[in-house]
Amino acid sequence: MEASQELKHQAQALGFDLVGICSIQTPPHWQAYTDWTDKGAHASMAYLKDHIPLKQDPRNLLPTAQSIIAVALNYNQTNPPQPGYPRIARYALGRDYHKVLRAKLKRLQAWLQIQRPDSQHRACVDSAPIMERDFANLAGLGWFGKNTMLINSQRGSWFFLGILLTSIEFQPDPPAIGGCGTCRACIDACPTGAIVQEEGKWQVDARRCISYLTIEHDGEIEPELAQKMGDWTFGCDVCQEVCPFNHPRDSQPLRAPKSKEPDFLKKKTWPSLKELVVLNEKDWDQLTQGSPVRRTGIAGIKRNAHINLDNM
Ligand code: SF4
Ligand code: SF4
Repeated sequence: MEASQELKHQAQALGFDLVGICSIQTPPHWQAYTDWTDKGAHASMAYLKDHIPLKQDPRNLLPTAQSIIAVALNYNQTNPPQPGYPRIARYALGRDYHKVLRAKLKRLQAWLQIQRPDSQHRACVDSAPIMERDFANLAGLGWFGKNTMLINSQRGSWFFLGILLTSIEFQPDPPAIGGCGTCRACIDACPTGAIVQEEGKWQVDARRCISYLTIEHDGEIEPELAQKMGDWTFGCDVCQEVCPFNHPRDSQPLRAPKSKEPDFLKKKTWPSLKELVVLNEKDWDQLTQGSPVRRTGIAGIKRNAHINLDNM
């Protein structure tokens, strides 16, 4: 079997839903990303701007890198709202994806190391300065929707991305091609109007995005935006929920399948909003062990829960 086919076979055996390869290059959206941060649209996430020079060339992370392996892991599951309880984005319902994805990528890396003992690798899971979506697009995993998510025409957009830089030169895949056409469902459905077009390109203004506001933003949330947060306590899935590529249909029955990953499917049980606003540090610490929700901190979750209660 050809080396890249063997690699893909191995990645699928490890549970990845999608895998593709591209060669080392400057990410195509690097300049647009620089412009986006120059405008301040990254809000208070200063690290996004600080990392721009590193993001221009993946060899800043692995000088011997020759190929980029992009993988995707599906996290889709049903998530109906429960009145009076926190509404958490689907990606954060189960175990922290950083741990799950990294463990699988490390196993793929270990397998490569056995095949080619002289090779070097670096696994990146949303923690290294690299433009994952650009490389996943180049590796054929999906195309950019107007909501800026990477969309796979067959699978939808409910997946995490991981990158494995490798010094091994693999045959690259063709980039993914596709588009939204005239659809604008996510733009119309976004509660805060965060999906905006500038110079013909669709972008998310983090300053208005509920995902940013509920997870990354410190301090008060402007009343106008807080009201529009509705019942979202951590993250927001609206622009993915309304996307037609995330809905199976007769001609595409396999579209947007449910995740098979036990670590994601095992949902954490959350206290009610009224219990959340009076939670103590010890209980918060216990409650959020191994959960992505920990990122927002106890002050953040209490602020969000108060807003949800006001919005009820
Ligand atoms: S995550 Fe929510 S707030 Fe952010 S762009 Fe999507 S729909 Fe809008
Ligand atoms: S909802 Fe429509 S416009 Fe938005 S990303 Fe999906 S296909 Fe594109």
